[in-house]
Amino acid sequence: MQSDMLKIIRAAQFAAVKHSAQRRKGEAAEPYVNHVLEVAHLVAEAGLDSDVVAAALLHDTVEDTETSAADLEAEFGPVVTSLVLELTDDKSLPKAERKRLQVERAPHKSVGAQAIKTADKISNLRSILSSPPADWDEQRKREYFDFAHAVVSGLSQAPESLRTEFAAVYQRFSGIVQR
Ligand code: ZN
Repeated sequence: MQSDMLKIIRAAQFAAVKHSAQRRKGEAAEPYVNHVLEVAHLVAEAGLDSDVVAAALLHDTVEDTETSAADLEAEFGPVVTSLVLELTDDKSLPKAERKRLQVERAPHKSVGAQAIKTADKISNLRSILSSPPADWDEQRKREYFDFAHAVVSGLSQAPESLRTEFAAVYQRFSGIVQR
């Protein structure tokens, strides 16, 4: 049984290696690993346990890198793996359908997955505010903010501190863009 500290550091390293060639979509093109570190920081600060923090670090590996569920299971065990799979979209589906399913399935996720999902949306909205993709106009940003809001509305079991932070970031957008 590995220690909590070791599990988290190994997850951070695994994510850094898997995402090493990826950048965020925004103008600043930050290293992708910055995003998963931010999500992990948010869930750790909200008091979630080490399996949830490790899963936060790994939450985009299966969806966005050459990582299988079996790879994760071998390295991190079934609890972390099932959390990551709860957060993995089926990329064979059209984007609109994937978004619809994120909204529909949000309320049925585990508490840990709800926390990570809320933190993921906080991180994404912060990125759009501070470094939006160059080709996104105000309407595109607003659509993403409204989609994120619809998802987080279904995550009522996420910690209150994360839900409050999400609301604050969402509010900043409403303040910036005329509606
Ligand atoms: Zn993410």
